[in-house]
Amino acid sequence: MVISTLNRIVREYWPAVDPELLPGAYAFADRAHRGQMRLDGSSYVQHPLEVAGLLAEVESDPPSVAAGLLHDVVEDTDIDPAAIEAEFGGTVRTLVEGVTKLSLASFRTRQEEQAHNLRKMFLAMADDVRVILIKLGDRLHNMRTLAPLAPDRRRAIAEETLYIYAPLAHRLGVRRFKWELEDLAFKTLEPESFREISRRIGAGRADREAVVAQAIEELQAQLREVRISATLEGRPKHFYSIYQKMQRQSIDFDHLGDLMALRVVVDSVPECYSVLGFVHKLWIPITDQFSDYVAKPKPNGYQSLHTKVVGLNGQPMEVQIRTREMHRVAEHGIAAHWRYKEGGRPSQFDEQMMVWLRQLRELEDHLPDEHEWLELVRLDLFKDEVFVFTPNWDVINLPAGAGPLDFAYRIHTNVGHHCAGAKVNGRLVSLDYKFRNGDIVEITTSPHAHPTVDWLKLIVSSGAKSKVRRYLRDQVRGEHIEEGREAFEKAVRRLPPEERSRLDLGTLAEVARALNLRDEEALFAAIGFGEIEPETVIARLQPEQEAPKSVAEEIEAFRDLEEAHPAAAARASVTMGDIDGLAARRSKCCNPLPGDPIKGYITRGQGLAIHRADCKNLLHRAALEPERVQDLNWGRQRPSDTYRASIELVALDRVGLLAHITAVISETGVNIASASVDAEKRNVATIRLVVDVENRAELNRLVERLRNLIDVIDVRPVPYKSPSQGRRPS
Ligand code: MN
Repeated sequence: MVISTLNRIVREYWPAVDPELLPGAYAFADRAHRGQMRLDGSSYVQHPLEVAGLLAEVESDPPSVAAGLLHDVVEDTDIDPAAIEAEFGGTVRTLVEGVTKLSLASFRTRQEEQAHNLRKMFLAMADDVRVILIKLGDRLHNMRTLAPLAPDRRRAIAEETLYIYAPLAHRLGVRRFKWELEDLAFKTLEPESFREISRRIGAGRADREAVVAQAIEELQAQLREVRISATLEGRPKHFYSIYQKMQRQSIDFDHLGDLMALRVVVDSVPECYSVLGFVHKLWIPITDQFSDYVAKPKPNGYQSLHTKVVGLNGQPMEVQIRTREMHRVAEHGIAAHWRYKEGGRPSQFDEQMMVWLRQLRELEDHLPDEHEWLELVRLDLFKDEVFVFTPNWDVINLPAGAGPLDFAYRIHTNVGHHCAGAKVNGRLVSLDYKFRNGDIVEITTSPHAHPTVDWLKLIVSSGAKSKVRRYLRDQVRGEHIEEGREAFEKAVRRLPPEERSRLDLGTLAEVARALNLRDEEALFAAIGFGEIEPETVIARLQPEQEAPKSVAEEIEAFRDLEEAHPAAAARASVTMGDIDGLAARRSKCCNPLPGDPIKGYITRGQGLAIHRADCKNLLHRAALEPERVQDLNWGRQRPSDTYRASIELVALDRVGLLAHITAVISETGVNIASASVDAEKRNVATIRLVVDVENRAELNRLVERLRNLIDVIDVRPVPYKSPSQGRRPS
């Protein structure tokens, strides 16, 4: 790569680029790195130039490419970031500083399970998505030039690449970086397998390439006839994906089956489908191997038509068809986003940006609905967390603002209890130090150190806080028990004598258990510690007071009662004309009760149905088929028969309300079949009771009684619906 080429490439995809920017940045980097060499003996500036070239390859915005040129000057030379800002502007400076900050942290791992946290820490430290892209370009060029390093160093860098950088490239949709990072890491980590795959691919390559070349020629001829301009190319599969497929499906190389692939890039979506038609006309499609990712994009935004056909040599050949725009997104991912932004078509790509960022976060929630695009670029995805290392390079993530004590308790409770001090990045710090991402933390312990009340102010993680509290509580438990007992007795003495005499002190242990405390002593200790007010305990010792419950809790007991309770009579005895003792079905729509004026409807096949005379359903039926509607009267009901009905009651939501209501209903001898509550409104509960009554008169009496209760705002009978018809009647 030379600077003039770089400048030309960028100008092609970004015509508005300042013609001075990249040559200026190159000259600046060249001056700063003068005299520095890379390990292979080349001049140092060649490295940032290659990194900038990679960024241009994925069509990054000009500030990113310039920052690629300058990415090592702050770290490796004595250049002041302000000088970068003076010459190239604030954005370039921010990007260079972001890259520098990320370089200072070491990301080491030997365990894949740590990689997840390391990736998160990496993201937490990047201020801007573009910083990550520049790091990816930097890493890719470093991977290309690993050779001069010692073998164990090469391995460590390759592992980091495979576990941290390649997955990030994947999540950002930058396929162009991802596959090469993977292949280079694979080559370093599994040289045997890499050589084997490359040998076997090489063995049949000439044949395969000839087949693909001929396929290209045939298809191209067809497309020319219908004037579709398309770019066709054989698509090499990358080695690591072949290896992964062999591992995943435990198949050997000979059975991979799809080493041949053809890619067709066209101008428009309709052309994609036309090309698909020609492909299927030319070659026999393999059934079930067609995927339409154009209509249904993959979660990372990837779009293409995929099909598999029988190639000219009888082997399967994969064909991918997409538009140029889809191709760009597939290869460049988030890097290309800035270019689309420039093109003034933001909304669709903002959505895509959201998808990429969501994938970075590896969570489905937590992104704001409304935002400015530029705010999205700032990566505050992990602003609530801080990531630090143990001396063994294990990553510990803690809430933002955490310090040595949080860390110590995370390691082990006893390390926390005896934490005497901490070293961060090799330097002693005080216990009120607040961590920054990437800090390496070492805790010193002492047998004489122990938690104090002050620690509670320094600790931010709730787990550590409760451990300190428990420790403090245990330490002073004896004192607290005494204080608690005194406070309790004092409160009892303050009670009016008649209330005091009613207290049942024998149930103190029960009250303790109800409050999740072991025994009386624990109860007093909790009072002494200020966790429980003596008055709370006294209230629970007063025998007539129910344990406080909300209406919603109380109603739970009734929830499934209706199903369990034997159904009240669905049929009733009626007289029609001079026929006595007819058993007829009470219709569900109007739920007639003995005492209501009624009419009968002769159903088709289900006998006679009783409706209230004013039932809307019945009136409708009567208009359509008057011959089926009959005058009815209630017959004599058996004394034991009851009928289900509903009451809706609106009341102030207070503790004990439901108990009061149910007591009143029981007094009248009416059975409650179920109860439900709607307490959505503040302080007001709507309670629905299903009761079994003998007749309308009894229901009316019940409504009248409930209406007179204190706190009850309104009571009315409502149409009864059985549970299968839904809880809320219309
Ligand atoms: Mn570098």
